[in-house]
Amino acid sequence: MERYKSQIAMIEIDGQKKIKNSSVLIVGLGGLGCPVALQLALAGIGTLGIMDDDVVNLTNLHRQILYNEGDISKNKVEIATKNLTKFNSNININSYYERLNEKNCIHLIKKYDYIIDASDNFQTKYLLNDACFFEKKPLISGSVFQFEGRLMTFMNNHKENLCLRCIQPFVNTNTQSCSDGGIIGMVTGIIGSMQAMEIIKLILERGENSINTLTQFNALNNTIKKFKLHKDENCELCGNNPTLKNVKMMNMNCTKNDIELILKMDDFLKNPYEYCVVDVRTKEERIMDGIIDGDFWLQLDLLYQNPQELEKFQDKNIVIYCHAGVRSLAATQFLKENGFKKVQSLDGGIKLYNSKKFTQN
Ligand SMILES: [Zn+2]
Repeated sequence: MERYKSQIAMIEIDGQKKIKNSSVLIVGLGGLGCPVALQLALAGIGTLGIMDDDVVNLTNLHRQILYNEGDISKNKVEIATKNLTKFNSNININSYYERLNEKNCIHLIKKYDYIIDASDNFQTKYLLNDACFFEKKPLISGSVFQFEGRLMTFMNNHKENLCLRCIQPFVNTNTQSCSDGGIIGMVTGIIGSMQAMEIIKLILERGENSINTLTQFNALNNTIKKFKLHKDENCELCGNNPTLKNVKMMNMNCTKNDIELILKMDDFLKNPYEYCVVDVRTKEERIMDGIIDGDFWLQLDLLYQNPQELEKFQDKNIVIYCHAGVRSLAATQFLKENGFKKVQSLDGGIKLYNSKKFTQN
């Protein structure tokens, strides 16, 4: 207990025992998973499950703090287990050198009290969301994009609480990951630490968690904003008449509902002037990747705060875009919920737009 003296000063021996008696499964041992694992190991968590099917790569080293140059090409869970044990030999570590799938997920999740989503792909995120919903396990989800990070805690213990599917419809292959937009190590470090803190608060039953709330951190101006999110009563997983009854790995194809929300790039390019184009990216991204001529700029956080900014365009077809189509889809969903009828998300975002423009020229 001596090593935890400083934290026991706040949480008392009882709190430290609660941490010791808890178990956490971390899915993904990359930029987010490394700081989560390290923080929880140092805090004295009883059992840590770590899962990843990847090996260490040179381009991981700027943010994945459990690995060094000598670890390149070695498997992540093995190196992480070795290093975490050096940091704290009093914790149990279970390592899983495999990918989460529909066969192993329920069995694994059952063994742990809390689950961390530190994955970088949508298939895993939705699988975890569904599995944690069925098993009623708290899921702490983190994600990063460029200078911004996001945090959400899905409790899965009460029908008032929302799940990932309530706020973000499943998206297709062109929009599966934001990691190609760039990631900075300090942001993954901060969001990973915030995910670990969410767990400690849940264990100690102290403070407030990011439940039914999106917590968004912007590293460029040091702001943390919180957005209240609403449960979708028609959610296919947690809504009133759910259609999803068991876990299934999602195909990277659009569901019928999403297709209506998405405007194909080719369709847009046939008649771009028919649309009122809205960019939800940051100023830095606009400078870096360019814009679609004649667009209206309303950054995502401002859109969430003031959707009425777009009311003047209500009679036109509004098309929202971002880097790759992930944030614009979330914005489109949000606007639909707020009474906008003619709004769609531009598939593939500025990335696809630029590549099409380039090939056309
Ligand atoms: Zn839901």
